[in-house]
Amino acid sequence: MLERAQALLKEHFGYTAFKPGQEKVISSLLAGGDTLAIMPTGAGKSVCYQVPALIFGGITLVISPLIALMKDQVDGMTASGIPATFINSSLRSAEVGRRLEQAGQGRFKLVYVAPERLEIAEFQALAAALDISFVAIDEAHCVSQWGHDFRPSYRKIAQFIHSLEQRPVLGAFTATATDEIRKDIIDFLDLREPRVFVSGFDRENLYFAVVRGENKKDFVLDYVNNNRNKPGIIYAATRREVDNLYELLQEKGYPCGRYHAGMSAVEREENQEAFIHDDVTVMVATNAFGMGIDKSNVRYVLHYNMPKNMEAYYQEAGRAGRDGEPGECILLFGAQDILLQKFMIGESVYNPRRKANEYCKLQQIAAYCHTSRCLRRYILEYFGEQEVPERCERCGNCSDDGDLIDVTVEAQKILSCVVRVKERYGATIVAEVLKGSKNKRVLQLRFDRLSTYGIMAGYTLQEIKDLINLLAAEDYLALSGGEYPVVKLGRRAAAVLKSGEKVWQRKCKRKAVQVDEGLFEKLRLLRKEIAAREGVPPYLVFADSTLRALSEQLPRDREEMLKVKGVGQYKLEKFGDEFLKLIRDYVKTVGESC
Ligand code: ADP
Repeated sequence: MLERAQALLKEHFGYTAFKPGQEKVISSLLAGGDTLAIMPTGAGKSVCYQVPALIFGGITLVISPLIALMKDQVDGMTASGIPATFINSSLRSAEVGRRLEQAGQGRFKLVYVAPERLEIAEFQALAAALDISFVAIDEAHCVSQWGHDFRPSYRKIAQFIHSLEQRPVLGAFTATATDEIRKDIIDFLDLREPRVFVSGFDRENLYFAVVRGENKKDFVLDYVNNNRNKPGIIYAATRREVDNLYELLQEKGYPCGRYHAGMSAVEREENQEAFIHDDVTVMVATNAFGMGIDKSNVRYVLHYNMPKNMEAYYQEAGRAGRDGEPGECILLFGAQDILLQKFMIGESVYNPRRKANEYCKLQQIAAYCHTSRCLRRYILEYFGEQEVPERCERCGNCSDDGDLIDVTVEAQKILSCVVRVKERYGATIVAEVLKGSKNKRVLQLRFDRLSTYGIMAGYTLQEIKDLINLLAAEDYLALSGGEYPVVKLGRRAAAVLKSGEKVWQRKCKRKAVQVDEGLFEKLRLLRKEIAAREGVPPYLVFADSTLRALSEQLPRDREEMLKVKGVGQYKLEKFGDEFLKLIRDYVKTVGESC
C-alpha cells in the first residue's frame, strides 16, 4: 500500500520521498485507523490526507475552516491532476447541487467543505448518498476552546459522522500541540483509539533570530533593501502599525501590499492576490493575514512586534520557506511589545482561567525573546519534541555572526538618569533629559538642572529610546504596566551601576538570503507568464525549489526533467516543453558569451 502511496506522491506532487512523519500518518490511515497528526505549518499535512484520498475507494471529505484555504488547495490539486472540488458559501445553491451530483457520480476524489455545511439538512441528505471512505479534519484544534480559533461547528462534526451509514476513517490534523487541545480533539471529534503522531516541528531550512533594542523601522528598511525581489511578510501587532509601515515602504519605492481587518474585503483580496502572484514582494499585515494562504516561496517573515504566544509565532514564522528553500524568521523585540500583549489580554473577553493561561504563554514567548540559548532548541522543546540537540548552530543565538558592542557607559548614563527622575517617568522623558531637550515639559519639571541632562547629546532620541528598550529587555530596567509605562531600575541595574558589569548590544548581521540570479530569474518569469495564462498562482506551476533544481540540474529532455524534484508526469506534460526550451536557449547564450 505504501508503495502505491509513494508512486502517487511522485506522479501528482513530483516528490520522490515522504517528509519526516508523513509516512507514519499515511500508513496509519491506510490501515483504517483513526489518526491524529500534530505537524507544524509547512510539514506537509495536506499530502497526508491527499495521498490516502487517492487510494481509498470512495470519496474523501475534507473539513476545512477557511474558504480561501479550500480554493487554494483545490486549485493546487487540479493543477496536479487530482479531481477535487469544494463546497462553500461562495457558491450559489444550484452550483452546490451540481458539484454534489458530480461527486455522486464519482467525478471527485476529494470534496472540501466548511464545517458549517455539515449542519445543513440538505447537505446531510445528499452526503448520505455518497460513498465517503475517509473524513480529514483540517485545523482540528478549532474544536477546542483552548485554542485561538474555536469554531462551534467543529463540535458538530462527530454528530455528522454518526449520521453516516458507514463510519469512515477519521484523520485529524493540526499544528497545535498542547495537551488540553489534543485531548479535546480526541474527545469532541470522537476519534476511536487514535494513533497520535507529533512530528516535523523542526524546520531545518529556517533561520531564527531575535533582534532586540534596535530601531525597528531602520532594521526593516535595511532588511527589505537587502532582500529585494524576495517575497516576504512583515507582521505587525496593530492595524495602525501596519498602515505606517506600509506607507513607509511605499514611500521608499518598495512594491508592497497590506492586509488587516480594518480594510474592505475587496481591498484585502486584491492585496492578497497581488502578493500570491508575485506582483508585490512584501506583505505588511496583522495576524489576520496568512491562514489559508499556501504561498510556498515566502523567503522571510519579520515580526515587527512580538506575537502573543509561541504557537502564534511559530505558525506565522512558519509561512517562510514552505518549499524547503532557505527562509529567515526574525522577531524584532521591544519591551513595549510585552505591555501591548498584556493590554490585549486584559481587554479580551476571555474568562479568568483562560486569561491566566494567556499570561503564562506570554511569559514563555517573552523568554524566547530574552534567551541566549539556542532558539531552535527552545522552540522544539516548547512543542514537545524529544531528543533535541543542545545547539543547532543555525540560529541567531548559535551562530555568532552578530557584532557585540560594549554599551556599558551608555547603560550607566541611562540608569543614573532613571534614578535622577526618581523612577517616575516614561522612556520618552528619560530620553529627552539625556539628549538635553528643551522640551516644555522637561524644562517645567526642571530636569535641565539634573546632572544627567544632555549627557547623551550626541545620540538621537530614537537611539536613546532603543537603548532603553534593550536595557528593559535584559532586565537592567523594568517597565511598569498600563498605557504609559514608567521606567524603573531592573533586577540587574545595581551590578552595572556599582560593579561595572558590562552591557553588550548584539547587532544582528543582516545578510541577504542567497538566491541565484540568471537562469533562476528567467525560469521565474516564465513561471509567472504560465501562471497568468492558467489563472493560478505561480507557485502552483512549480515551487521555487523546483526552479532552483532546474537551474542547477539543467535537464535536456523530458526524461531528465522528470528526475527533478517537484516535477511529476502531469506537470511535465503540461509545462515541461516550455521550461526545457528556456533552459536550452539559456545554456546556448551563456555558452556563446563565454
Ligand atoms: P501544512 O499543511 O502542513 O502547512 P503543506 O501540506 O501545505 O503543509 O505542505 C508544505 C509544503 O511542503 C508544500 O509546498 C508541499 O508541496 C511540500 N511537501 C509536502 N510533502 C512533501 C514531500 N514529501 N516532499 C517534498 N515536499 C513536500
